[in-house]
Amino acid sequence: MNFELPEELRMLRDMSCKFANAEITPFSRECDEGERYTPEIRKKAAENGLVGAWIPEEYGGAGVGILGNTIITEEISRVDMGIGLNICAASFGCEAIYYFGTEEQKKKYLPPVCSGEKVSAGAFSEPNAGTDVAGYRTKAVKDGNNYIINGNKMFITNGTVCDWMIVQCITNPEEKRHHSFSQIIVPADASGVIRNKIHGKMGIRASDTAEIALEDVTVPRENLVGEEKKGFRQLMHFFDVTRVMVAGQAVGLSQSCLDESIKYSKERTAFGSPIGIFQSTMTKLTEMAIRIEALRNLVYKAAWSIDEGRPDYHLAAIAKYYGGQTAVFCANAAVEIHGGYGYIDEYKVQKLYRDAKILELYEGTKEAEIMTIGRFLLSR
Ligand SMILES: Cc1cc2nc3c(=O)[nH]c(=O)nc-3n(C[C@H](O)[C@H](O)[C@H](O)COP(=O)(O)OP(=O)(O)OC[C@H]3O[C@@H](n4cnc5c(N)ncnc54)[C@H](O)[C@@H]3O)c2cc1C
Repeated sequence: MNFELPEELRMLRDMSCKFANAEITPFSRECDEGERYTPEIRKKAAENGLVGAWIPEEYGGAGVGILGNTIITEEISRVDMGIGLNICAASFGCEAIYYFGTEEQKKKYLPPVCSGEKVSAGAFSEPNAGTDVAGYRTKAVKDGNNYIINGNKMFITNGTVCDWMIVQCITNPEEKRHHSFSQIIVPADASGVIRNKIHGKMGIRASDTAEIALEDVTVPRENLVGEEKKGFRQLMHFFDVTRVMVAGQAVGLSQSCLDESIKYSKERTAFGSPIGIFQSTMTKLTEMAIRIEALRNLVYKAAWSIDEGRPDYHLAAIAKYYGGQTAVFCANAAVEIHGGYGYIDEYKVQKLYRDAKILELYEGTKEAEIMTIGRFLLSR
């Protein structure tokens, strides 16, 4: 067993780190305040091979695997998770095509996303069902060579900026709920697709989140991804991969909380000493460091297992759950270490605190992860 990252992944980390510091840091505050999506940074990232980097080279990606992509996500999220999402989630939805799509679909849809020309999205959640993944109601009715889709999707990342989205639909209502779903590619400019940006998010404000209505949207049957009635299973597999990437965001954000806190603990004095020498500060720093170390190893293992062709849903759920917990813990501790200054936007930790919470909500709430982990344990 070797815990050392190979040379190429260390170089990838260095490059991602430099890119994030140089290209993202200057825009972080402005994009957060103005809820500004950043296509220009996404395109630059794509030129550097950082968009859809997990996608193999034959489909336009950098072919760095899920572990490589997790390292990119970590480094970019360390600087800004909102702008980071515009880069790391620009290929959100491509997982469905890569794992279940036809060769033609892979060749048509994946390369333009990796090159930064196009953006994808995964439209699963609905206004009345998020955690209840089998409770979605969007329907796709077969009509000759087409599907006609009607329904509503909620909280869709890249919703107003994407070129196409994977839509989770009921195609076979006669089947039991888990077996009634399919995944269909819907071009964002298709007639009947109505997209509205959601404003006022607590954090990751530079990322685009939208509500989408689908009103008699007609797409060809060839836009089916994988098989009819397998949509639920396909989505579960999709989450096994994307949850690891979310956990990678948590590593980056948590690391940033620790870095900022160490710096401040050395600079700030109280009672004539740097606050870092107080045991309560040290305890916070130590707890952060321990959790981050444990999380990073956990996430890398989950990513590695996917690259080894043995995706482990249990490990992905644990990584996602612990990622959210670690990020929220570290952000809270970082604000506390900064005292009153942590509460205002002069210091980065205020933004980290706001950004962290989403890691316990999207891609499965922490309660949903507990169900996944708990059911696995009880099934053994
Ligand atoms: C910024 C942002 C970006 C997002 N991006 C996307 C995206 O790109 N694509 C997409 O499809 N979705 C996306 N989502 C949606 C996200 O995945 C859902 O919000 C999340 O899954 C929770 O669903 P919900 O909001 O409907 O909450 P609900 O499912 O209504 O849950 C409400 C509460 O009840 C709890 N709960 C529900 N059921 C159970 C249960 N059985 N046992 C215990 N507790 C339970 C939940 O854990 C939660 O605490 C995004 C959300 C946000 C906020």
